[in-house]
Amino acid sequence: MTWEAVIGLEVHVQLLTRTKMFCACENRYGGEPNTRTCPVCLGLPGALPALNAEAVAHALRLGHALHATFRPESRFYRKQYFYPDLPKGYQITQGAVAVVEEGWIEIPGDASVRGAEGPVRIRIERAHLEEDAGKSIHDADPEHTLVDLNRAGVPLLEIVGAPDLRSAQEASDYLKTLHHLVVYLGLSDGNMEEGSLRCDANISLRRQGETRFGTRVEIKNLNSFRYLRQALDYEIQRQRQLLERGELLTQETRGWDAQSGETRSQRSKEAAMDYRYFPEPDLPPLVLSEDEIAHIGGTMAELPATRKQRFQTEYALSPYEAEMLMQTRAFADYFEGLARESGQGKAAANWMLGEVSRTLNERAMGIESLALEPSRLAGLLKLVEGGQLNLNTAKETVFPALLESSDSAQAIVERQGLGQVNDRGAIQALVRSVLEANPQPLAQFRGGKTNLRGFFVGQAMKAGDGKVNPRLLNEVLDACLAEGEGRE
Ligand code: ADP
Ligand code: MG
Ligand code: ZN
Repeated sequence: MTWEAVIGLEVHVQLLTRTKMFCACENRYGGEPNTRTCPVCLGLPGALPALNAEAVAHALRLGHALHATFRPESRFYRKQYFYPDLPKGYQITQGAVAVVEEGWIEIPGDASVRGAEGPVRIRIERAHLEEDAGKSIHDADPEHTLVDLNRAGVPLLEIVGAPDLRSAQEASDYLKTLHHLVVYLGLSDGNMEEGSLRCDANISLRRQGETRFGTRVEIKNLNSFRYLRQALDYEIQRQRQLLERGELLTQETRGWDAQSGETRSQRSKEAAMDYRYFPEPDLPPLVLSEDEIAHIGGTMAELPATRKQRFQTEYALSPYEAEMLMQTRAFADYFEGLARESGQGKAAANWMLGEVSRTLNERAMGIESLALEPSRLAGLLKLVEGGQLNLNTAKETVFPALLESSDSAQAIVERQGLGQVNDRGAIQALVRSVLEANPQPLAQFRGGKTNLRGFFVGQAMKAGDGKVNPRLLNEVLDACLAEGEGRE
């Protein structure tokens, strides 16, 4: 009997805004503990929250990117619980009455569980705005837990996915797609180590063909793609073993223990808290007009999925190449600048995924920090395309020189005398001298060892300092070899 995994993710995204969700404190990671605080985010009596319009705009941007619907009027609630890092005693959140509802994203489906290749749409139930809590620090003092409230009140968007995922691989692909989307759109820095994007996974199993859902378990704080995959694979095994023994699952919250590689029970449904939600009296409803929603949509950049598709058709690239070029928005922008200025899409893609990527990897930096503008690199591509420079010299000599100076490719080529030799007469003289200097290999070639042809190419290239136009060299060499044969 085969089992089907049913998975839905809840993803918390810290939004990139200048200030916090309900106050004017700076929204930035780290800092001297408890310095980015004020009466509002400290929860002092009488302090009044005011909603951050930038955070709302980000929620709308995400909504457009998810093809979602927008709730014209949504609210904020107080979700009440006691914890030292929650100074107000409640979190302000939209809960189930969310500004963004019913969206979807596409991921590559896992053929091993779906029985067919191809992309699948994963529905998104809602995305709602809320505020982050502070941070409890357990390891800084031997006797006390310390509290840092710099994070208290930082804007969050919680994205609740439908239970449409069917394997750990799909869950990981979904999270990667979502992560790429929010970073690409500038909604979040997506730094998972710093907690800018956090994930809880809900998982249940059911018999293949069954339409009802089984009892689910929620695994908290899966803050890397690897942990998410490992925890879900572990949990699928654990649940399957229980179910096959005829045991019932308990609805519970579990945690992932990376050290032991297992999930551990944290609390059961019976122990679940009642948060006593009630409407936040200090904030008016969030009312959105059609115009506002449309305006945000109209000012957004082309969506990643659309742009990737366009790269394939406009520049004749493979899906893989388009995907690689879309790794970050800055990288994709650089590519398009290079393609436009050089007039060559395919060559621009090759350079981006070849020399440019290699340089960025070696220097462990992003394209934003590369001291080489697309226009100067385009100059190099044009010299190669025009036959004034051979590709090897371009890669090995001129490209590194472009990185080290602010000169144009043309200037470097002229100064170092690197221009490609395109003069047929000069190449003929070169080939003849190589053949004369190598009578033995020539005799062997004529005796049938035709693979010696490569040897002559290499010798001629060397004699020409690598600057000989390779296409012409090959033509001339063949002509010379044939000519000799004719004489015999
Ligand atoms: P809660 O309010 O308890 O968090 P939700 O209905 O909001 O419950 O669902 C939370 C998450 O759990 C969603 O991402 C949803 O996709 C997922 N989920 C719901 N039911 C199941 C199930 N039976 N198996 C796996 N995931 C589920
Ligand atoms: Mg929930
Ligand atoms: Zn504040």
